[in-house]
Amino acid sequence: MSPEPNPPVQHRNDIVPEPLFIVDRMLGTLTKYLRFMGYDTTSANTLEEGNAKEDTLLLELGLQEHRILLTRDAELARRGKDRAIFIRSEDVMEQVQQLIELGLIKRRVTMSRCSLCNTRVREAFQCEIAGADYAPKDWRGLSFFWCESCGKLYWNGSHGKKLEERIGGGK
Ligand SMILES: [Zn+2]
Repeated sequence: MSPEPNPPVQHRNDIVPEPLFIVDRMLGTLTKYLRFMGYDTTSANTLEEGNAKEDTLLLELGLQEHRILLTRDAELARRGKDRAIFIRSEDVMEQVQQLIELGLIKRRVTMSRCSLCNTRVREAFQCEIAGADYAPKDWRGLSFFWCESCGKLYWNGSHGKKLEERIGGGK
């Protein structure tokens, strides 16, 4: 295993473990943002559609995997008690802000997880960069990461820069 790219800065007295999330179908964009921010986030979108008991399943998965349920459904949030959070806004930046204000997440962009599948990305090999026709031709000053699960290439600046500007970058 190669070392995790851009590991988040941890303070020595920071012993609070990172939260894990499970997110309902209404929050697809927030799911991607949380992954770019380095938070282990699973989505209801990976479950088979049409399950009448999906709400119950989300609550159970959350408990089993020690994930906090994020939902736009007030009733579901109520059922999840202290393991669920009702997300108030439809706007993704306000959603991120709500989680920051609750002290659950930090304002940062780590690019350490694949936004599509939540897998931890690793440093990309040169052949993988060269094989991706969507990669920039000039590699100078860039760091490239690879999702082994999706076969997808990421680099700082692809999503990182724009996101960092929006999220406000971890200083
Ligand atoms: Zn992936």
